[in-house]
Amino acid sequence: MWRSGWRASGALRRLGGRSANLRAWRWGSTTACERALRFQVGEKIQGFTVGQVTSVPELCLTAVKLSHDGTGARYLHLAREDRNNLFSVQFRTTPVDSSGVPHVLEHTVLCGSRKYPCRDPFFKMLNRSLSTFMNAFTASDYTLYPFSTQNPKDFQNLLSVYLDAVFFPCLRELDFWQEGWRLEHEDPNDPQTPLVFKGVVFNEMKGAFADNERTFSQHLQSRLLPDHTYAVVSGGDPLCIPDLTWEQLRQFHATHYHPSNARFFTYGDFPLEQHLKQIHEEALSKFEKIEPRTAVPAQRPWPEPREFQITCARDSLAAGSSEQTTVSVSFLLPDITNTFEAFTLSLLSSLLISGPNSPFYKALVESGLGTDFSPDAGYNGCTREAYFSVGLQGIAEKDIQTVRDLVDRTLDDVILQGFEDDRIEALLHKVEIQMKHQSASFGLALASHVASCWNHDGDPVECLKLGSQVARFRQCLEENPKFLQEKLKQYFKDNRHKLILSMKPDDQYAEKQAQVEAEKLKQKVDSLSPEDKQRIYEKGLELQTQQSRPQDASCLPALKVSDIEPRIPVTELDVVLAGGETPVQLCAQPTNGLVYFRALSSLNTLPEELRPYVPLFCAVLTKLGCGVLGYREQAQQVELKTGGMAAAPCVLPDDSHLDTYEQGVLFSSFCLDRNLPDMMHLWSEIFNNPRFEEEEHFRVLVRMAAQELSNGVPDAGHVYASVRAGRTLAPAGDLQETFEGMDQVRLMQRVADMADVRPVLRKLPRIKKHLLSCDHLRCSVNATPQQMSRAGTAVDTFVRSLGRSQKERKPLRPHVVEKPALGGSSPVMRRLVMEPTFTPCQVKTHFLLPFPVSYVAECVRTAPYSHPDHASLKVLARLMTAKFLHTEIREKGGAYGGGAKLSYGGMFTLYSYRDPRSTETLQSFVKAVDWARSGRFTQQDIDEAKLSVFSAVDSPVAPSDRGLDHFLYGLSDEMKQKHREQLFAVHREALVDVSTRYLGPGRSTHGLALLGPDNARTAKDPSWIVR
Ligand SMILES: [Zn+2]
Repeated sequence: MWRSGWRASGALRRLGGRSANLRAWRWGSTTACERALRFQVGEKIQGFTVGQVTSVPELCLTAVKLSHDGTGARYLHLAREDRNNLFSVQFRTTPVDSSGVPHVLEHTVLCGSRKYPCRDPFFKMLNRSLSTFMNAFTASDYTLYPFSTQNPKDFQNLLSVYLDAVFFPCLRELDFWQEGWRLEHEDPNDPQTPLVFKGVVFNEMKGAFADNERTFSQHLQSRLLPDHTYAVVSGGDPLCIPDLTWEQLRQFHATHYHPSNARFFTYGDFPLEQHLKQIHEEALSKFEKIEPRTAVPAQRPWPEPREFQITCARDSLAAGSSEQTTVSVSFLLPDITNTFEAFTLSLLSSLLISGPNSPFYKALVESGLGTDFSPDAGYNGCTREAYFSVGLQGIAEKDIQTVRDLVDRTLDDVILQGFEDDRIEALLHKVEIQMKHQSASFGLALASHVASCWNHDGDPVECLKLGSQVARFRQCLEENPKFLQEKLKQYFKDNRHKLILSMKPDDQYAEKQAQVEAEKLKQKVDSLSPEDKQRIYEKGLELQTQQSRPQDASCLPALKVSDIEPRIPVTELDVVLAGGETPVQLCAQPTNGLVYFRALSSLNTLPEELRPYVPLFCAVLTKLGCGVLGYREQAQQVELKTGGMAAAPCVLPDDSHLDTYEQGVLFSSFCLDRNLPDMMHLWSEIFNNPRFEEEEHFRVLVRMAAQELSNGVPDAGHVYASVRAGRTLAPAGDLQETFEGMDQVRLMQRVADMADVRPVLRKLPRIKKHLLSCDHLRCSVNATPQQMSRAGTAVDTFVRSLGRSQKERKPLRPHVVEKPALGGSSPVMRRLVMEPTFTPCQVKTHFLLPFPVSYVAECVRTAPYSHPDHASLKVLARLMTAKFLHTEIREKGGAYGGGAKLSYGGMFTLYSYRDPRSTETLQSFVKAVDWARSGRFTQQDIDEAKLSVFSAVDSPVAPSDRGLDHFLYGLSDEMKQKHREQLFAVHREALVDVSTRYLGPGRSTHGLALLGPDNARTAKDPSWIVR
């Protein structure tokens, strides 16, 4: 995959640490941190020399820096009491053209290596391992290969495959053709069909630039940093990719994927010595040191600001069709290796743009001129020199100058007035809370946090010392109250390296792009000799043969099904009643000084006509003010006292009946232990006295939400297609489409376009009446054992503060089934909606969207979680993905991805992602089902599919989220254990049986959906609904 940068990097990532005083949670007598502290500077270990050993208490880890004696490879180990161990190797890849060479290389090294010459070992390892994460990323100036796993044997296996892939790849010509680009006949078997461009990266990048935000971000970076590698597209410009040759690819590998240009990173509680030994023996000992010459030189500062205009496709989903111009003002900031300056500027940037109290939010977002901030607004620290950008999207072209003036004027005002102390306090509180909050993939978060700074030879350990940076920041403010204002003057107002970039829609954009591509194609084809053409035809056939050949993956290491833990870990839960009757689930966990509070409220009594507005209600509920607090004061309180408060609609399918589901709204929040009473008071005010009066602010929030939804479609097209395809197959499907499908995207667009939003605003108090009371409410708390009784009291106070409906409201759906809420003995019932007369029906929908690629989904109604067939279908989905659909849809079809999956509620979905084909892919789905029914797979294939299923089932769960399955779905440990045993028991006959009974022709009802450009086939075929 390709990223134009790690979006989440910078000082304000969600970092979390496990508290050092919770020794009881550690395992083993000596901890990984303590063992690491015993390394001595200068000590030689397995071909490496220790350079530095540092304890980082704020993140509960010990950092060990080393370098490899023979090659100069750099190494950073972070020892931490976390079983989810991570490895990554990072190369500085700094291309000077837009052929996408680092990106194509990232794909091709994963196609087979010296020790593991089978095709695609990387994808095969997904099924032979219990990895919790495996991927590869191409950023603007580095390429990163990370994996994580909780199993030591698996770690060694994956390490061996990764090392061999990056240092000794085969880089065969056919791999380059498949992954990069090639000319091939539209139908490779028929030399009469026209020659076209194909290739995975070629299509991936066409898809990526269908996203206007991404186009804007790319131009922003390229134009602001034009001197070296940032001027080009590291992922590849679709029009330049066909200039790349196989020879250039191999050359780039030789100079960039060398240990002297590599940075190794390991994280977790496995012993460091073993990692070093394996890396030295299997890879580094085979190289000599070189001078890599991959450094990015400093950007020369400009004497004068610059301006550029670009164009983009019109977004048919966005609100305000005439107002689709984007403009931003950006400033070049200092080198990111200056860690404290980078930290300061990222905080300063947050003060400038985040939240409704920030000056740019007030000046720009609330000006009513546009829909939301421009892409990449804020601090961007992924390039050697960082930059700050701010502007608006969704504006009228005539307002460009107004926005520019507003930016300048706002900066002047802030330089004059400074920031309120409370806002600075709230921001530092946010840093503190983010250090404590631990995600399930903490190692990966750390690897990405240090990647950019380290890439430019900055000190990665300095980047981790957030506690000391906060202290130094406070000291600077104390010594000089104008500290931040002076920085603003220096880096913003007086900075001549300033870029004004605007982008406006061009109705002919897609046609022009297609035309340029057609010209490029013609030029390539015209230059071919008859011999070349013959060779292309033969290569196309060869590639097809290679892709269809049965593959022997026996050279690859693998775990066995017997390596999987037979039992699930037990999650201890308690249930108490608050206010006498509201159940509260208590889950004691090492949450590191944080309390996580959630509540779920039923939607059963809500009138039908209000349902489509529930997502909007949720989006604005915690942002419009409550009680005596206006929306600005409320935002201030939320930032000062909590780590966030949010509401989201949810549709929870039942574990045992397809036509039964629970509908509700989930409220979630977390805070430092000491702030719990304040947070619960805020919830109490939001439930009892929400304010739905601020029409102007409501309008701003609606525009932002609509813009965000429409921008998200290209990235999640397969999800939208899947939701749509499942809409008419089960009662929950229709509600899912209403809440999170294309219908919701279009509804939000209509609301954002309304001249008068008051009719919509007036619906909110009506929704509130049905939702915000203690009728049919349940709560959950995750906190440390020491905090539990205090937390119980705080929740009790909250529940007692809530009103009850005067009259018992009747659920609107006549059939409601009751299931015990939170544990069998609880007197409180979950009320699930049941539609016993529901009849599924087949519908095919094509959403016309101006994308150059499509997203295809076919959905089948099968069996829910508790049904014995569910386990077989789950293994079948993995099996079909790995053994059939991957080859068919990605390798042969040229799509970026595709596969099969089974939802908890029993919807079996086949899908493709960024697919150059559309309805043809439906034929591949039919073939996949035939393949499954014929049973043409081996026991080894089944075992691999099981490993892959279990690596998902057993993926680590953060302390904040443990017990959540039970809270939401009523899933007990016993039910999960039973399901686990069903998974172990899946066998060949069961797989053939379920594929015949559910997926075979004429069996279950199918739903189909397609997102993408118009298509003669769906237009002509009356069974398709085209929208
Ligand atoms: Zn890619």
